[in-house]
Amino acid sequence: MTLARDPSVRVRFAPSPTGYLHIGGARTALYNYLYAKATGGTFVLRIEDTDLERSNAEYEKLQIDDLRWLGISHDEGPDRPNPKYGPYRQSERTEIYQRYARDLVSKGLAYYDFCTEEELEAMKEKAAAEGRDPVYEGRWKEPSSQAEAQERISRGEKAAIRFRAPKKSYTLDDRVKGRVVYPENMVGDFVIVRSNGLPVYNFCCVVDDHLMEITHVIRGEDHLNNTVRQLMIYEALGARLPEFAHVSLLIGHDRQKLSKRHGATSVNLYRNEHYLPEAMCNYLCLLGWSHPSERDIFEKQDIVDVFSLDRFSASAAMYDLEKLKWVNSEHIKNMPTPDLITLVEREPETGFFQRQTPEWKHACIELLKKYVQFTTDFPRLVNELILNEHPEKSEALQEILSWESTPKIFDFISGAVASVSTEFVSEVELNGWTEHVKKTLGIKGKPLFQGVRAALTGHDHGPDLKFLIPLTPVSVLKNRIQHLTK
Ligand code: GLU
Repeated sequence: MTLARDPSVRVRFAPSPTGYLHIGGARTALYNYLYAKATGGTFVLRIEDTDLERSNAEYEKLQIDDLRWLGISHDEGPDRPNPKYGPYRQSERTEIYQRYARDLVSKGLAYYDFCTEEELEAMKEKAAAEGRDPVYEGRWKEPSSQAEAQERISRGEKAAIRFRAPKKSYTLDDRVKGRVVYPENMVGDFVIVRSNGLPVYNFCCVVDDHLMEITHVIRGEDHLNNTVRQLMIYEALGARLPEFAHVSLLIGHDRQKLSKRHGATSVNLYRNEHYLPEAMCNYLCLLGWSHPSERDIFEKQDIVDVFSLDRFSASAAMYDLEKLKWVNSEHIKNMPTPDLITLVEREPETGFFQRQTPEWKHACIELLKKYVQFTTDFPRLVNELILNEHPEKSEALQEILSWESTPKIFDFISGAVASVSTEFVSEVELNGWTEHVKKTLGIKGKPLFQGVRAALTGHDHGPDLKFLIPLTPVSVLKNRIQHLTK
C-alpha cells in the first residue's frame, strides 16, 4: 500500500559528529530519507554537537560526505538552511535551549541546582548503600529554596538547571515497538542545562524536534530509554508529540550489539572496499524492514512507493557481511554494462582493459559479471582468466594432460593458434578447431571438451570458451600453450 502524500511530514537524522558515520546511523538516515520521499515530506539533517569535547567539524563533513555517497540527500540542514527552522547545529542554538530552560524554571517545572559534585556523589553513595537507584534529594528541589536560588543567580552564580520529573508513569505507542510503558519513578529529576551553561542531549533534542516541527522520530532502539525523559519534556513544553518509531538493534552473529569486534562498522570502510552505494542502501534497508513482496534486491527509488513504518520488525536484525556481499554482486549483475565499464576503468592497473575496443569491453563485462562480488574483481579476473600466460598446473589439469587424447589436441591447437595472424580468434574459428578435433582426430565427449579447454586456458573449468577465447589475445594463447607443454 502506498503511503498517503503528506507534505507536512518532517523527519530528521540527527548525528553526533563524534566519529565516522556508523552503518546503524546510515540505516536510520536511510529510513528517514525514505519516509520523507514516500510521503512527499521534508528530510532534515541536524548536527547534534553539544558534546563539544568529542564533536569535531571534520567528522561532520565526513559523515555528510558518506551520506552523499549513499545518495541520502537532505532537504534542510546546515548547508541548506530554512530560516524558519535553522540553525541546524546544536552548538549554534545554545541560547535557545537556555531560554527554554529558564522558562521551565519560571513555571516551576525545573529548578536551579547549586549542589556541588561532592554533594551529588554523596547522594549516589547513600542510594548504593541502600540498594536503590540514585535520585536527586538535594534541597534545591524544594519550591521554598527558589527565592534564594534566584537571588544567587542574579548575583552571577552558576547553577545547573534540573528538570522536575513528574511522579507518574508514561506510555509510548511506538510505531515499531508497540506500547511501551515507563513506570512511575523510573527516572528522578535530571539536569537539562549543566552549570557551565551547556544543555544536554535529551533537552536539546526535544526543543529542536518541537521547533523544527518534526512529525516523526525514526531512530535506533537504543534511544528508547531516553524517550521517557523526552516525553516529560514535551509535556512540560506543551508541545505536540511526534510519532516515534524505534527501529531494532543491529546485532552480530553472536547476537551481541554490533560493534567493531564484528568487523567494519563505519560506512567509509565499505566505501574504501568498493561496495556499491546502491547495494549498501539495499542491504541496510533490509536490516529491520522488509519489502511487501519479499524482494531482496531493489534500488532506493524503487521502494519509495511501498515504504511504510508498518513493515519494520521489532526484533533485532543480524548484520551479515556475506549477505551484503551477495547483495553487492546482485547489484553488479543488474547494473547497465556501460556503467560497469566506467567503474572498472577507474580501478588501478586496468591498462590492458582500457586499450581494448568498446565491443571487447562490453563482451568482457557481460562475461565476467556473473563471477564477481566487487567491481575490483573485474581486473583480477581479467588477469587470471584472460591474460595469464602461466597457469598453475593443478592436479585436475595434470589429470587431463595424462589422457591419451590430450597430446593430440595440444599439438593441433598449438599449430592452429600459431597460424592465426589476427589479434584475437573469432568464435567461428574456435568452433572450427573443435570440429577438427572431433571429426579429424576422432575425439569426442569429455576428452574433447576438457582437452580443448585445457589447451586454451590451462584450466579444467571456467567460463564458456566461446565467449572467453575470443577475448583472449592470440599472443597469450600461444605463450600459454607453450608453457603448458613444457
Ligand atoms: N544524536 C543522537 C545520536 O547520534 C541522535 C538521537 C536522536 O535521533 O534523537 O545517537
